[in-house]
Amino acid sequence: MAQVRLEGIDKVFGTQQVLHSVDIDIEDSEFMVFVGPSGCGKTTLMRTIAGLERPDRGTVRIGTTDATHLHPAHRGVAMVFQSYALYPHMTVRENIAFGLRLSKKSRAEIAKAVDEVAAILQIEPLLDRKPAALSGGQRQRVAIGRAIVRDPQVFLFDEPLSNLDAALRVQMRVELIKLHRRLGATMVYVTHDQIEAMTMADRIVVLRDGRVEQVGTPLDLYERPNNRFVAGFIGSPKMNFLEVPLHESTGQSTTIGLPDDQSLTVPADSRNADPEGPFVLGIRPEHFGLDDGVDGPADVHLAAEVSVVEHLGGEIIVHARLADGREVQVKEAGHRRIANGDQVQIALRAAHCHLFDASGRALTR
Ligand code: ATP
Repeated sequence: MAQVRLEGIDKVFGTQQVLHSVDIDIEDSEFMVFVGPSGCGKTTLMRTIAGLERPDRGTVRIGTTDATHLHPAHRGVAMVFQSYALYPHMTVRENIAFGLRLSKKSRAEIAKAVDEVAAILQIEPLLDRKPAALSGGQRQRVAIGRAIVRDPQVFLFDEPLSNLDAALRVQMRVELIKLHRRLGATMVYVTHDQIEAMTMADRIVVLRDGRVEQVGTPLDLYERPNNRFVAGFIGSPKMNFLEVPLHESTGQSTTIGLPDDQSLTVPADSRNADPEGPFVLGIRPEHFGLDDGVDGPADVHLAAEVSVVEHLGGEIIVHARLADGREVQVKEAGHRRIANGDQVQIALRAAHCHLFDASGRALTR
């Protein structure tokens, strides 16, 4: 079994504490993604699992072993770095075989293992080339091959696709998902790209400033963000946030004010929220509709003027200015004849609304 359990991890560099009491449980065979803005501590956390950083407090368990003080080579983990870290003077075959140098395998067994990995990654024709004669995507495959050949309990990927162009990134994303399925190994993957996180993860850990903000499946985080930070980080384009006045709060519902003297009652419990506000209404661009383009009857329509239209082929993103001057984004599938300056009605449903208090805590569940 290759669960990874992080308990109460603190890490301090000089005077800066970069991880604060981090608790994370990664299941056996799970694809877990650590996501968060630059500098939030993703790589440090990953390196702590690998044994390349020693935590100042807390425990790292891998499988049934307390690995906190184990040498990296004895943890049963293999890390794939953003920079690939291939040896330039070695061929692809030698680079992949290098991962087995500490094993007691015979030459024939090593050759067989390298061939098997090369077949999985479809790099057989490249085995006798040196890294300088490979494209970025091919180098990345070799780096992954070097990890696979060691048959680790846990794979650690640190932004492995960030040096590839957009098309190759999408292709490699799918290949990594297939590889995970095929190997059935536990994989931990670091990225700052929420689309990568959403498409690849069984579960996602959202980090901010060295703290875990939320752990959940991609859908959990999308539908039920704990707070405004997670709500804004997950989803593209970003969730719209509008400061709104509070009109009334009962146990399970909260009535807020909207432009044009309208109000809306949303399923949010604001009884324990700071009554001074401001309260912030969150609506994803895909949950706004132009005219009646929401799934089901709209609860409110907001008058707006179109300022920019982005045509993406299968969908459009409309930037529109509400009556009170605030800008929102609306995302719709398909095409629509619409132009800068058009007057539109933006439809929304209470069921799609998120409400946050002044601290950013989600009041809708
Ligand atoms: P990015 O997405 O930019 O790679 P990250 O979320 O992976 O960022 P880390 O690389 O873990 O973040 O860095 C977290 C914080 O720790 C940063 O403020 C960074 O400057 C600091 N840091 C990381 N490694 C060291 C080190 N060896 N010495 C001092 N500070 C460090």
